[in-house]
Amino acid sequence: MDVSSVRSLFPQLQESVYGKPLVYLDNAATSLRPLSVVREWDEMSLKHNSNLHRAVHKTAVDATERYEAARAAVASFIGSASPKEIVFTSGTTQSINLVAACLENAGFFSEGDEILIAESEHHSDIVPWQLVSGRKSLKIKILPVKQKGEIEIDKLPALLTSKTKICCVAQVSNVLGVINPIKEICEICHANGTLVLVDGAQGIAHLTTDVRELGCDFYAFSGHKMFAAPGVGVLYGRQPLLESLPPYMGGGEMIESVSWEKTTFAPVPGRFEAGTQNISGVPTLVPAIELCKRLKTSEIEKEQAAIKNYILDAFAEDADITLYGNPAEREKKIPLFSISVKGAHHEDLALILDKMGIATRSGQMCAEPLMDRFGVTGMLRASFVPYNTLDEAKYFVECLKKAIKMLK
Ligand code: PMP
Repeated sequence: MDVSSVRSLFPQLQESVYGKPLVYLDNAATSLRPLSVVREWDEMSLKHNSNLHRAVHKTAVDATERYEAARAAVASFIGSASPKEIVFTSGTTQSINLVAACLENAGFFSEGDEILIAESEHHSDIVPWQLVSGRKSLKIKILPVKQKGEIEIDKLPALLTSKTKICCVAQVSNVLGVINPIKEICEICHANGTLVLVDGAQGIAHLTTDVRELGCDFYAFSGHKMFAAPGVGVLYGRQPLLESLPPYMGGGEMIESVSWEKTTFAPVPGRFEAGTQNISGVPTLVPAIELCKRLKTSEIEKEQAAIKNYILDAFAEDADITLYGNPAEREKKIPLFSISVKGAHHEDLALILDKMGIATRSGQMCAEPLMDRFGVTGMLRASFVPYNTLDEAKYFVECLKKAIKMLK
């Protein structure tokens, strides 16, 4: 696979905006969808639409088999020991809320316990913990990031106490693009008896993830950021841990037996999947995973590295541009670039770039505490995936410079 063959799989790349070819650099928010994913959704909707796990008729069995095949594919893709460790959710946000609520309901937290959260986390890995903290009188502690965006791992041991119950950290920050040292974080936290939840929303499409190698207890991600359908998410949890947790929501199919006196619950992972699940969406994870695997070629990796080097060099040369997430070793960053520009508002830049056909993200990127950390009200972000080309990166930098000139 080279970049042009990857591009041919994504029909939306043929679209134009304001008469210009679409240059889609908002992949960290939502990636585009390949035909294989659209076809899977269509096939599920047109041929295999039926409720899951319930009926004995052929169509229901087919739908259930495809849903469960996706669970097996996810387990193998992330190196999980068993499909029983894979819970389907609506996305990273729901996955994290599920863990927070279930730990709370399991009596895992006592008053005065601590939750450690990286300073660079997305709101979805902050607010669910604040909600639990409010109810249980817990203390939230912050694992800081350095000026260049790396986590201050040296400070981790001193931040952990006998009360630190869980550490929550992204594999890759959606603002900084920096790859965090998850394995090391897990080792330090586990030596203290602290669980680790990893937000894999940005890591899943860019890195090769092996949850057992990382050593994390929970790993959450969303389908729509890795070329699958929206409304589909995954929570990985170590099996004994999942088995120790009570259900998240009550409803159909998450039970073993229901009576007015006593209800017992299904084994994991069904216990966490109450009600009718995403029949058409979950199976799209299969072609999305297939694609992610096929994208790991040296040619594509070369193009991605060329994009990264080109943009990092271009930004380093421009005194007006501040790049957030600029680790000394470039291999520790994915091709995701968040900047602020002296004298130009991020929203104005994004609007001008849009008129030039370039889709970027502007604003707080659901990471307001990190914006405060860097003393900005927002940033402009361009995020690349393997269907983006070096030519697009050059066009982006050229247009950005024009936009800055217009605003000065
Ligand atoms: N965490 C990170 C790091 C993210 O980038 C995002 C999406 N921007 C989320 C969590 C939330 O994902 P979702 O909206 O799909 O639940």
